[in-house]
Amino acid sequence: MKRNLVILGSTGSIGTQTLEIVKDKNEDFAVLALAAYSNVNLMLSQIIEFNPDYAVLYDKDAAFELEKLVKEHSAEVNTSVLSGMDGLEFISTLKECDMVVAAMVGMIGIRPTIAAVKAGKNIALANKETLVTAGHIIVPLCKENNVTLYPVDSEHSAIYQCLKAQDPCMIDKILLTASGGPFLGRKYDDLKDVSLEDALKHPNWSMGKKITIDSASLVNKGLEVIEARWLFDVKIEDVEVVVHPESIIHSMVQFKDNAILAQLGLPDMKLPIQYALYEGNRRTMPERKVDLFSLSKLDFLKPDHETFKGIRLAVDSYRRGYIYTTVFNASNEMANRFFQEGRIKFLQIYDIIEDALSLDFDHCRIPSLDEILNTEQEVYKYISSKY
Ligand code: MN
Repeated sequence: MKRNLVILGSTGSIGTQTLEIVKDKNEDFAVLALAAYSNVNLMLSQIIEFNPDYAVLYDKDAAFELEKLVKEHSAEVNTSVLSGMDGLEFISTLKECDMVVAAMVGMIGIRPTIAAVKAGKNIALANKETLVTAGHIIVPLCKENNVTLYPVDSEHSAIYQCLKAQDPCMIDKILLTASGGPFLGRKYDDLKDVSLEDALKHPNWSMGKKITIDSASLVNKGLEVIEARWLFDVKIEDVEVVVHPESIIHSMVQFKDNAILAQLGLPDMKLPIQYALYEGNRRTMPERKVDLFSLSKLDFLKPDHETFKGIRLAVDSYRRGYIYTTVFNASNEMANRFFQEGRIKFLQIYDIIEDALSLDFDHCRIPSLDEILNTEQEVYKYISSKY
């Protein structure tokens, strides 16, 4: 029987690659619902190709436009168009849904992911911001509802693969690899005038804009450290970042007997996506393979925390109290957007995050979902009034 997928963020980088896998493995998967932020044209072509029962555009005007266009195609498709957070939560809890692919960018993914977990849906998780800011809510909720989170992030998929059939008590540390991004080797002063174009030139991975900039600042790696802490129930101190410029080793686990297991592959999201869609099972993959003989060597370096503050700021925010992971993430989301819009320089991304982290929040409390979302808004308001 085919498994029904609900794909949140279907027009983004992970979403479109997920649909390519669905097309390739159409004997195993059907698309029940698709959701995106506002991309009408791409959503329309996905609807025509996959004929889902539902399509959601978060942006209400875009959804209105999409609905008109879908009606013109009513001979080929019978898709209902929805909008807003209600629409996202509705499709994430559909009775016929077997798995939710959470691939939207940013904290907008929190509510639909929580709704899906409460409805007992397994999740293929690409939306790291959700786990970073609400991991303390989502992880226990998953246990309660017997839900598994299958990581789509390449590093976390690698760790998940390395931990298969291993005793979690024997983990010594997680070795989270980082390519170092386009600015690897540069010093703080060299980054003063880098352009958006420079930041978007990732040496190995082809990804969406937000995450590519986060990779250049190493904020992405900081988010991934916290993501790993939640996904694998380890202490944040036990996640060590190893810069590995070739991006062939996607991450490693060191065990208490000093054995290290690694997962290798080309930098291609197809494998982690497919592995998650099959709930941690292997299937064939037609793409290119690693040619070990063409790799003369693999390099490993310590991260330069003086230049790239992304990891340290993330870990500090986590240590100060869970609410500060929201402050860290929300301030980065806004700084990232401002950098894309040309409103700030690259290094100001760090200034904005540090500024937001200096605000006073109740660090002792374990924040509820509402407190997380309110704090997010407060941070946005504070930053937009200042920059
Ligand atoms: Mn990653």
